[in-house]
Amino acid sequence: MTTLPLIRVGISACLLGERVRYDATHRLDADLLAFFAGIFELVPLCPEVAIGLSVPREPIHLVGPPPGRGMSKAPPVRAVGNRTPRLDVTDALTEYGQRMARELTDISGYVFKARSPSCGVDSVNVYSVTNDHIPTHRGAGLYAEALRVGLPQLPIAEDEQFKDFGFRMQFVRRVLSYHDHQETGHVCRR
Ligand code: SF4
Repeated sequence: MTTLPLIRVGISACLLGERVRYDATHRLDADLLAFFAGIFELVPLCPEVAIGLSVPREPIHLVGPPPGRGMSKAPPVRAVGNRTPRLDVTDALTEYGQRMARELTDISGYVFKARSPSCGVDSVNVYSVTNDHIPTHRGAGLYAEALRVGLPQLPIAEDEQFKDFGFRMQFVRRVLSYHDHQETGHVCRR
């Protein structure tokens, strides 16, 4: 009997237990992995390591002005070193996200690590340029945002949302539906 390949879903590598965080630790989410086992093939990616940052490394954070009323464009947010503001990886993270959006055409969903300045979807503290101790608002990690813009229909979520069982089931349904759409699109292009 032939076994069908599992649907591929991207995931922040630290959630899979890879020691890629700034302090060389991981954030293994065994419960989530057990839930996905046999449903999805998880594809681990760490954008900070991919752009050439070392493990361990200086942590980064987001800085930028809060969104102002009536602004037509989102204000520029930058990812810089916690201790070294000259360590600016904004462009590298954004370009890597744009590249992955072009290359990851075979994934049908993505699970991001919440609150990461690279991987968070909308839970990331953004600090004032003049006072980097007090966050002024929450925003998106730069890699996750670039990927979301490049693949706007891709089902995405943050790990912390999966504590809700209803959300888990909803995410699985969204991934299956998106995958179906990918397969149908493939047939149509032939
Ligand atoms: S949150 Fe993203 S950038 Fe940070 S260690 Fe995990 S995979 Fe790497």
